[in-house]
Amino acid sequence: MKLGQINLKSVSGGLCYLDAGTLYGVVPRVLWERKTPPDDRNRIPQQTNCVVATIDGRNVLIDTGYGSKLPEKQQRNLTSEPGDPLVQNLQAAGFEPADIDVVVFSHLHFDHAGGGTRLNEGGDVVPSFPNAEYIAQRREWVMATSGLPELRGAYPQENLLPLHASGQLRLIDGNVEIMPGLRAVVTGGHTEGHQALLLESDGATAVFLGDICSSRMHLPVLWCLSYDTNLMQTRRIKADLLGEIADNGWLALLDHDPDYAAVRVSRDERADFVASELIESL
Ligand SMILES: [Zn+2]
Repeated sequence: MKLGQINLKSVSGGLCYLDAGTLYGVVPRVLWERKTPPDDRNRIPQQTNCVVATIDGRNVLIDTGYGSKLPEKQQRNLTSEPGDPLVQNLQAAGFEPADIDVVVFSHLHFDHAGGGTRLNEGGDVVPSFPNAEYIAQRREWVMATSGLPELRGAYPQENLLPLHASGQLRLIDGNVEIMPGLRAVVTGGHTEGHQALLLESDGATAVFLGDICSSRMHLPVLWCLSYDTNLMQTRRIKADLLGEIADNGWLALLDHDPDYAAVRVSRDERADFVASELIESL
């Protein structure tokens, strides 16, 4: 899809299945199970939607899915896709790993950062995209690599340290223009250093919301993930961002929606948000 001069392509980093309770936080089951009936293990399907934005001839990959090196037990729990779904889907869309110039992470949880690295023939973990600069918020990186016991399990270090070791990592601080047409907007909430990514060209705007609003089921402001480290901040920033998106007719890019890569949004009568247009893929 064209966004002004920018070419947008949605690419799946792989489907998986997550515990439904953790995806809806304090929302009672009687409300969410009507919209998304869980399977016999109380799980619901989650996409890991990534986006390739081609800006001025440079291919920018936003997020990378869970990748190809999940431990076997986690693969079973998630029923994740075998192989390297991100690279396979990129190739199907016409992009080789060497064609990716920039990788930018909304945040560094395993299902967003895992595909940034892979195991090579020698069994070492190396960047999946040999020519890419990898961009993350410094605050997110510091938390993710802090070794804090309360974050145990949230940030497998093999997804992160090889990016630093290869010299491909660039850390950014706050709301910055990453390049003309692509801006980082720090949201906090889901994680301390979580960022949304704004793509802008010729008056058209799309916002990759990351886990601030991960699916169309999460458009109601109070429907938030149990994983959020600062729930009140998520609710605040989500209301602000979705309001801006709705009022300006921007496109909202959804990272975990199982059926749609993007939606257009409008306000409803309860000052909440609903999808006014569903877009299967970009
Ligand atoms: Zn997350």
